[in-house]
Amino acid sequence: MADFKVAQPLSTSTGDYLKALWELSGSGDVSTNDVSARLSVAPGSVTRMLGRLQEMGLVRHERYRGASLTERGHAEALRLVRRHRLIETFLLEHLGYSWEEVHEEAERLEHTVSDKFTDRLAQLLGHPDRDPHGAPIPKADGALAQEDSRPLSEATVGDRVRISRVGREDAPTLTYLGERGLVPGRLLEVEEVRALDGVVTVEDEDGTSHALGGALAASVLVQDL
Ligand SMILES: [Zn+2]
Repeated sequence: MADFKVAQPLSTSTGDYLKALWELSGSGDVSTNDVSARLSVAPGSVTRMLGRLQEMGLVRHERYRGASLTERGHAEALRLVRRHRLIETFLLEHLGYSWEEVHEEAERLEHTVSDKFTDRLAQLLGHPDRDPHGAPIPKADGALAQEDSRPLSEATVGDRVRISRVGREDAPTLTYLGERGLVPGRLLEVEEVRALDGVVTVEDEDGTSHALGGALAASVLVQDL
């Protein structure tokens, strides 16, 4: 096999594919359709790009089994995720961005900055463990903290929990949760879990109740107190 090294920054779409595969690969190989849905790209284009990534040694792709990252592809994905999450933290802490704004800006910037810049950023920020949404930030060597959180949608009445992370990064969701103070670190007690439609009602530290629809509750990750 050729000795391949990622010398140049990966192009935007290449990096997006690697990140999508990394995010979707929780339960094994990823189907073309899942990648297609995640990136809003036609399945035919996904198949072609997966073939190219395979030639680059970043992805293994078998027609009927789906795609997975090679060791090198995995390392590249983690490098991008690290950059992305550090940039988000920087935008929030130093440039006055709100937590619903940082994701889109970081998506643009992560493809243009160097590893040197990323390491300096980590230094400036004091090597944070988590980004503004509570997602763990991979270390420079690719080490990633294990998460022991579960979706709020799986909680039961009476559970006392702390919000550890919000798993969705679309602005409407983050604006909604942010306005209600439902951000990482917040303590909640589960008042009701409605089987009928999955609505979870929680009470926060100030005694205010919040009813979250099933999909929203599923995107709020919590840890037991
Ligand atoms: Zn993000």
